[in-house]
Amino acid sequence: MNRLTDIAYIKEVLSRHGFTFSKALGQNFLVNPSVCPKMAAMCGGSETVGVIEIGPGAGVLTAELAKVAYKVVAVELDKRLLPVLAETLSGHDNVKVVQGDAMQLDFVRLIREEFGGGEVVICANLPYYITSPVIMRLLEEKLPIRSLTVMVQKEAADRICAVPGTRAAGAISAAVHYYAEPEMLFKVSAGSFLPAPKVDSAVIRLHIRQEPPVQVTDEALFFKTVRAAFLQRRKTLANSLSAGLSMPKTEVHAILEKAGVPSAFRAEQLSMQQFAAIANVVGEGIGV
Ligand code: SAM
Repeated sequence: MNRLTDIAYIKEVLSRHGFTFSKALGQNFLVNPSVCPKMAAMCGGSETVGVIEIGPGAGVLTAELAKVAYKVVAVELDKRLLPVLAETLSGHDNVKVVQGDAMQLDFVRLIREEFGGGEVVICANLPYYITSPVIMRLLEEKLPIRSLTVMVQKEAADRICAVPGTRAAGAISAAVHYYAEPEMLFKVSAGSFLPAPKVDSAVIRLHIRQEPPVQVTDEALFFKTVRAAFLQRRKTLANSLSAGLSMPKTEVHAILEKAGVPSAFRAEQLSMQQFAAIANVVGEGIGV
């Protein structure tokens, strides 16, 4: 039994350390006893695969990860939680807490120094204010990791997992699908947290691809094209790309024709192959 899901106990520990929750840092700590063991079991950490956790909070997930993985490195931004973690994780000698910002930290170096050439996965209950930027940063860095198993708001999970070309898809769906194969694992109700947020959450797993699913000549241009297409998602592709890429409409029509994509399509109707075809033609500089 993980004592850190005992609300009376966790409140006592936090108050003894003078800790108060920061909304700005997305501090909603898990107190539902079934969630962390499930995440730990599904994240891929093992006797041979290490785990990096982002935002350990009071250590509730960290303690479960430490039971399945040979080593856990947990990156926490809030310095006030360091003495809390020193106490709550004192029984786990395979855990190292690093104070740092997941948006700034050099993960390539951390992985090299802490795990050598060994296999690593990421597992986290992410702070909601930086869900998409953190996921994109970790994917774009092309870290030597197998997968990311993360808890995010349910709505963000739906968007991330949506297959490009379907109604629920957004720019983040296409960006994530470029680097990984996302999978919805399970839903977590708002009442599972202290304090309880307003919305439900979900745990998703992103399996890192060895190769992207489409061939693009310029990755930055591919992502720029995807963002431009979704900037005004209710408008036709011709309109949104013209605005998003600052190009005359005649030029956009020529690009879409060459890429074989109907101008009247909306961004949510486009497959990864079609996004790639458009970006590759944009890269050729048609009509410029
Ligand atoms: N893992 C704990 C749990 O499940 O109860 C806490 C999760 S809480 C949603 C998010 C955690 O991320 C908090 O501990 C917060 O202080 C930390 N955090 C917020 N911004 C961060 C950042 N930029 N880098 C690293 N940690 C961050």
